[in-house]
Amino acid sequence: MTSQRDAVLEGTLEAEQLHSELNANTIARVPGTAVDIFSVIDSRGINLLFQKLGGLLGAYLNFNKRGILVTTERTLAIQRFTAAHELGHAVLNHRAGIDGDDILTRSPFGTQRYLPEEVAADTFAAMFLMPEYLINEVATRQRWDSASIQQPAVIYQMALRLGVSYEALVRTLTKYKILSASRGRVVLDEEIKSIKRGLLGNRVLPPDWRCNIWELTERDAESVLIAEPNDFFVIRLREMSSAGYLWNVQQAREAGFSIVADERFLSAGSEIGSDVERRFTAQPTFTGQKDIRAVQSRPWDPDDIAEEFRVKFDIARPAIGFTLRHRMEVLAA
Ligand SMILES: [Zn+2]
Repeated sequence: MTSQRDAVLEGTLEAEQLHSELNANTIARVPGTAVDIFSVIDSRGINLLFQKLGGLLGAYLNFNKRGILVTTERTLAIQRFTAAHELGHAVLNHRAGIDGDDILTRSPFGTQRYLPEEVAADTFAAMFLMPEYLINEVATRQRWDSASIQQPAVIYQMALRLGVSYEALVRTLTKYKILSASRGRVVLDEEIKSIKRGLLGNRVLPPDWRCNIWELTERDAESVLIAEPNDFFVIRLREMSSAGYLWNVQQAREAGFSIVADERFLSAGSEIGSDVERRFTAQPTFTGQKDIRAVQSRPWDPDDIAEEFRVKFDIARPAIGFTLRHRMEVLAA
């Protein structure tokens, strides 16, 4: 009988092993951004199917061919964690089985006892989606230090960039001792809705607060953001308006972003006539992958580009039906 500690170790080692085996472009399209878990599953030759599963989150199937089922009825972060958990069952050579909501609430790093196979798959999922090196890369890019990572608003923005839930990230940061156990408990109690409300201010009132609110700055340039159609992006960019340069988001509009607010703020401590912060609040009206570019130029000389801000958006809609690989196999058979 495997002990809880052995199961955690097994899941951790297997996640590290798979990270070292895969090439960087399979793990994420841009290194240092969210693990592309659905592509990783595809790359292992495992069929991935999204469908309504009643109250279940996912299942690992192992009949003639290995397969993973993921519910269509939960957020992208939960779908991604479920897919990683089921991949854990596959790479750890577990038996077929189904999973419910308990994979989200139990902590493999806590003191309560659970089935060793489930502990190993949970640990695999957490370590595969949130390896310590990736957390460090995101923090370095964003210039978040160990003090700022204690703040719920920062943890929430990091969770978005890793494509995981706030709760899953808090548990993992506690496991890495980036948060102390007591700080972890405090930040888990934080109401995320108030963080979201603070980011949107009075600009927009979303129909409900299940959507995510991303705060983007120049530090997100050239990254890949995996988001959902209902999400809002609050984009804060420095604008050299005193020199006549203005951000132009026409291309983002043409690509399918609806700009729901467009504001200018004097940077803190700045004098009249100096740089301002331009703040766009945008919502995608498209799904799929798009490269979006905004440029800062003078309206009378659009070719003189002072700065450019480019981000890849992957707006995922919960997929229904077999994945592309499976469809191709069926067609080829
Ligand atoms: Zn399981």
